[in-house]
Amino acid sequence: MDTPVDTKKSPIAAGLLGAIGNTPLIRLERASAATGCDILGKAEFMNPGGSVKDRAGLAIIQDAIARGTLAPGGTVVEGTAGNTGIGITLVANALGIRSVIVMPETQSQEKIDFLRMIGADLRLVPAKPYKDQGNYVHVSRRLAEENGWTWANQFDNLANREGHRLTTGPEIWEQAGGRIDAFTTSCGTGGTLAGVAMALKERDPNIRVTLADPMGSVLYSWKTNGTLEMSGGSVTEGIGQGRVPENLNGAPIDDALQVTDEEALAQVFDLTQHEGICIGGSAGINVAAAIKVAKRLGPGHRVVTILCDGGARYQSKLFNPEFLRSKNLPVPPWML
Ligand code: PMP
Repeated sequence: MDTPVDTKKSPIAAGLLGAIGNTPLIRLERASAATGCDILGKAEFMNPGGSVKDRAGLAIIQDAIARGTLAPGGTVVEGTAGNTGIGITLVANALGIRSVIVMPETQSQEKIDFLRMIGADLRLVPAKPYKDQGNYVHVSRRLAEENGWTWANQFDNLANREGHRLTTGPEIWEQAGGRIDAFTTSCGTGGTLAGVAMALKERDPNIRVTLADPMGSVLYSWKTNGTLEMSGGSVTEGIGQGRVPENLNGAPIDDALQVTDEEALAQVFDLTQHEGICIGGSAGINVAAAIKVAKRLGPGHRVVTILCDGGARYQSKLFNPEFLRSKNLPVPPWML
């Protein structure tokens, strides 16, 4: 064998950590044709752990190591809808760190199985609102306090949005050749929206940033009239909020819109069937939101959004006719 590759000077990624990010930016052909715009989706489902949250896992762990609050041999604990747990566990495995993942038991079986498969110490808890001390976020904080573990705290830890400001945002800018009219995405922690918005507005303050919110979340009302009202609910996972996480504080967001599950799933199924791009529910919300933004702007504009994770993570839910019927959602004919 020749001398080992210098990964800093070569396109070969340095292990798992080097393989996170640099995802393709895909032009969604049907949405683009329907609006006369360029609708571009950042294919975050192509990250090693299958979601945008690999980036947050990496950014948070690297920040904790740099601060001296986490080191190989240590333990990181996090409350998560699943994807952050996957990102954290993969990064932790690569660095010799132990991960403890607290997750509401309502999340998809596929995410639960994947977390077990990669060796996370998984603690499932009943789904409770944030104001209840049994909520998964509080359980993870208490576990950190009681055991002296490092709490990732993705909702309020600004290392999360900083990771997106330094990677996702600049990647989008470069890939789009600096020509972007609008950016929209939904929020769990808000790390993706805030970090990308900051990076894009630093480069061009005229880029319009729109928060896309599912039903049953307070963020639309927060951004639109400063109240924290919500109604309805959503089958999407990983997005929607009952409070305003620290990662959204001071983020340069221009406006917000709401997307229903019906609108989101129409995009999920359309992209899968006609473009071969199989995405999860939050990505469906984002594509539906990008189409609304494009219609408001009119033909000739370019709108960027995030394809957060892939449909395979929701086979037993969104791609299951029985589940759809149980939620009174339309079942596409090809699924029967
Ligand atoms: N989509 C999915 C599937 C997710 O798991 C998450 C994170 N919980 C998001 C979107 C939202 O990303 P962020 O936390 O950066 O707002």
